[in-house]
Amino acid sequence: MKVLPIYSVKPYAPHKYHDNDRCTERNNIERENVRQGTGGRPLCDHCERLNREGK
Ligand SMILES: [Zn+2]
Repeated sequence: MKVLPIYSVKPYAPHKYHDNDRCTERNNIERENVRQGTGGRPLCDHCERLNREGK
């Protein structure tokens, strides 16, 4: 489901934000690299699809 946006500050991580708790990329972000918000980045493609499917 759709949740609050977060993004990863890890160098070389995709510069996207995530807002769906079923996104594996989101769930693989190491805790120390997680930041709240969008970071001014575009939404992750996978999250966008999950949101559109209502998952
Ligand atoms: Zn995502």
